[in-house]
Amino acid sequence: MAAASEPHGTRYDAIVIGAGIQGSFAAYHLAERGKDTLLLEQFLLPHSRGSSHGQSRIIRSAYPQQHYARMMPESYRLWQRLEARAGTRLYRRTGLLVLGAPGEPEFERWRRAAARRRGPVEQLDAAARRRRFPGFRPRDGGAALWDGAAGLLHADRALRAVQELFRRSGGTLRDGEKVLGIEPGALLAVSTSAGRYRAPRLVIAAGAWSSQLLAPLGLRLPLQPLRVHVCYWKEKVPGSCGLDRPFPCFLALGLPRAPHGIYGLPACEYPGLVKVCYHHGSPVDPDQRDRPAPGDRRPDVALLRRFVGCCLPGLEPEPALLETCLYTNTPDGDFILDRHPKHSNIVIGAGFSGHGFKLAPVVGKLLCELSLGEEPSYSTAPFSISRFPGALRAAL
Ligand SMILES: Cc1cc2nc3c(=O)[nH]c(=O)nc-3n(C[C@H](O)[C@H](O)[C@H](O)COP(=O)(O)OP(=O)(O)OC[C@H]3O[C@@H](n4cnc5c(N)ncnc54)[C@H](O)[C@@H]3O)c2cc1C
Repeated sequence: MAAASEPHGTRYDAIVIGAGIQGSFAAYHLAERGKDTLLLEQFLLPHSRGSSHGQSRIIRSAYPQQHYARMMPESYRLWQRLEARAGTRLYRRTGLLVLGAPGEPEFERWRRAAARRRGPVEQLDAAARRRRFPGFRPRDGGAALWDGAAGLLHADRALRAVQELFRRSGGTLRDGEKVLGIEPGALLAVSTSAGRYRAPRLVIAAGAWSSQLLAPLGLRLPLQPLRVHVCYWKEKVPGSCGLDRPFPCFLALGLPRAPHGIYGLPACEYPGLVKVCYHHGSPVDPDQRDRPAPGDRRPDVALLRRFVGCCLPGLEPEPALLETCLYTNTPDGDFILDRHPKHSNIVIGAGFSGHGFKLAPVVGKLLCELSLGEEPSYSTAPFSISRFPGALRAAL
């Protein structure tokens, strides 16, 4: 209820900054819990300047870290619920092939995790991999894991769906409104390019821009925005690598010249073009993402050319299309989901390190629970700010 002295529409139960997939899910959970919630986005929607745009993201159960693997069953259920409530198809089952070499440390980590969970992930030796997936020709002796329930999420459609359901639950979404300042307090104030709002709780889910909002609050998190190239490669035989073909999503691990791994998805956004990308990028100011890098060097594209040329014989080994996107990486690749160490009514969701989309329904739930002062449904210890002692010192 707005106080008598406050203009109408400026007082909320909760404010969320950032209408990417994480902020949108946090806002949706808050609204579903009956909180009058304001979701603020700096750009007019839809936009392609953050990390959540595009048509496809991989969803998988296979995860070497138990803390993510444990969240995946609920994440699948929440995606299904969103599909049902929005009446739109968001998930396509394709399966996921995890390619690696026996004995290679990263691949062994995945293999051990799959064996420990005795879940839906199957181990394939080199012969089985060759027989079942002849379109993939990794190094000699290469083995694989097969996650048969994995697939692809239609990202743009998912973002629209969750924002629509947020509105239907009574939430207010204001786009084209950049947050310029945050005044902490029991009833905190958020100033934007168009107004000033107050609420007893705030969630910051500002993607690559998070540090800009957190620095004035005394928090310096080691968040590194990266420009990543999204490359599309043409199929040699039209229709051979589409969503309705036996061409799965894949991850290639432990490649000597591509230490962060390479991933790919069947043709989806553009007919006949398969997305194959390096899972890393180069440091960038998020507002300068599309400005060419100095010298316009693209070492990632060069290594992708070599990979496609040798391992994916069904594709032309020259990218047909190149787009850019942003990752926001933490040093250990784990998310940050925590309360501000000094202002406990400010909750932060950041550092999704190029793998946060599939988990967004659960991340949003955790951000909502933290913000309501509840015990989170999963341990948030792996996502705590205290693992970065420098950030804490700056804040206290
Ligand atoms: C090319 C690519 C491929 C990926 N593939 C996968 C995959 O296969 N599987 C997977 O699980 N994940 C994947 N990811 C990762 C996943 O997409 C991201 O983790 C996720 O989208 C991050 O969402 P976000 O909400 O944190 O960030 P964003 O989507 O960037 O949202 C943050 C929002 O905050 C807004 N904002 C910032 N500052 C302000 C301000 N001051 N005022 C108002 N609004 C503000 C921004 O404009 C932005 O819209 C991929 C990412 C990329 C880029």
